[in-house]
Amino acid sequence: MRQKLAAGNWKMHGEGAALAELRALADACPEPASQILICPPATLIARAAEAARGTPIHIGAQDCHAAAKGAHTGDLSVGMLADAGANYVIVGHSERRADHGENDAAIRDKAASVIAGGLTAILCLGESLDEREAGQALDVVGAQLRDAMPPGARPQSLVLAYEPVWAIGTGHTPTTEQIAEVHGFLRTLLAELLGESAAEGIRILYGGSVKAANAAEIFAVPNVDGALVGGASLTAADFAPIVQALDAA
Ligand code: PEP
Repeated sequence: MRQKLAAGNWKMHGEGAALAELRALADACPEPASQILICPPATLIARAAEAARGTPIHIGAQDCHAAAKGAHTGDLSVGMLADAGANYVIVGHSERRADHGENDAAIRDKAASVIAGGLTAILCLGESLDEREAGQALDVVGAQLRDAMPPGARPQSLVLAYEPVWAIGTGHTPTTEQIAEVHGFLRTLLAELLGESAAEGIRILYGGSVKAANAAEIFAVPNVDGALVGGASLTAADFAPIVQALDAA
């Protein structure tokens, strides 16, 4: 049985005042059946972990460096993120792929470092609009998963997030049939790569313009084990109903 996961990615939003949203979220979701995760900017991880102590909210990071330490100005290792209070690290988000030229090999190294550090990697996969319209969505996400799959991945150390690039921050979402097709394909590919038992335990999130109004419909899709949410995770008023829809699914 896969525990559902409602993950919020705050991206480059939020200073100290945003921690009030974390406390409001905890108040709105005191005993969720789903796991709740917030990935704030790195500057807030330690304070967010402190604010979340004693609540059901887990704290994660949005990126990491693959190395444990070294001359990498501006980067943060998995050990540093864990020390600050992170339990999860997002790797391979499409904005990192686009803004920083990250490829699948680099993303695999980051995910491997997350797993070696005892944290859980959320590996993001997704096709562009051109690729979707060319009928290549499954080929693209399949290649991303094969090439970025870290060694030693297990249900407790790896989560997948299917995030079509054209759905992120746009208000556009795939049809439920399209989501079902990709998630089913990823489950089958996980079985091929890791075996049936690991594949059955690994959670596959959907991400891209999830909001309270469409959450229940998306969460009813087979093989959708939760969501990775950007814009609608920034306030408790927007995110709590998504968590509640996941609990009810
Ligand atoms: C994301 O960036 O991971 C995301 C899904 O963003 P949004 O929910 O804003 O589309």
